[in-house]
Amino acid sequence: MRRTWFIPVLIALAILGYVFGFSYPPLSYPENDRYVEELRPVDKVEIVVVVDNNRGSGNLISVWGISLFVKADDVSFLFDTGPDPEVLEHNVNILKIDVGDIDFIVISHEHGDHVGGMPYLERVKPGITVYVPRGMDMKTVNYLMKNLKVVEVERPKVIARGVVSSGPLYGGVYEQAVAIYVKNRGLVILTGCSHPRVEYIVSFFHNITELPIYAVIGGFHLSGAEMERLEKIANVFLSLDVKMVYPIHCTGDVAREFFSKSLGSRYKDGHVGIKVEIEE
Ligand SMILES: [Zn+2]
Ligand SMILES: [Zn+2]
Repeated sequence: MRRTWFIPVLIALAILGYVFGFSYPPLSYPENDRYVEELRPVDKVEIVVVVDNNRGSGNLISVWGISLFVKADDVSFLFDTGPDPEVLEHNVNILKIDVGDIDFIVISHEHGDHVGGMPYLERVKPGITVYVPRGMDMKTVNYLMKNLKVVEVERPKVIARGVVSSGPLYGGVYEQAVAIYVKNRGLVILTGCSHPRVEYIVSFFHNITELPIYAVIGGFHLSGAEMERLEKIANVFLSLDVKMVYPIHCTGDVAREFFSKSLGSRYKDGHVGIKVEIEE
């Protein structure tokens, strides 16, 4: 009872923060500290865009959402699952990805266009480990816990050799991004929707690892974003000398167009079905 003053003070601070535009609450850990000393590089990473709303060729189904298949040396995993188990199953079959072989799943955040494909994985990989960000809504966590081994990631964490989660970053929902450290290249960052802001996520990984950022692939959540913001993001990519930028999923056509001009050859046209291979 001694600390009952604490809650009203927190509420007042939250309201003040909201009013003055600090809509992102502080993280629970200092962002400049290095938490990932044990991150060791892999020689090679392969990323296949299994689900994306940007259309590809052939018989791949394109729906709103994202799912990436990742193979980092001998470890493979799915990052997000798209909105629909049938779409996921259809596309992995066409892409000849053996989902039976994956070691774990990472879910960026709770929204349906990222977790909707899970019933397919529950069927083919019951009991598999699924990493979710701490702070994800309990309804989704409880649902996943029925058939899978749910691990809540609380802070930056190495989840396999060369693979690090950002831990929960806040942007209206808690979301984690993942980075793969490729030897002599740097980090390859995967984002789900980038609700915590893509420029923040990229800088965050750079700060906690002190490694160069080689590539960024995923949703950047920029539909309707102001030109000023797009310029700021392009400048972050350029100042960090990011070599490959694949803005897909919720990035939006206006932002994609902008990056294709402002980033030149660093911009890469991403869509369902592409395979990105990066090696030392
Ligand atoms: Zn979302
Ligand atoms: Zn999304």
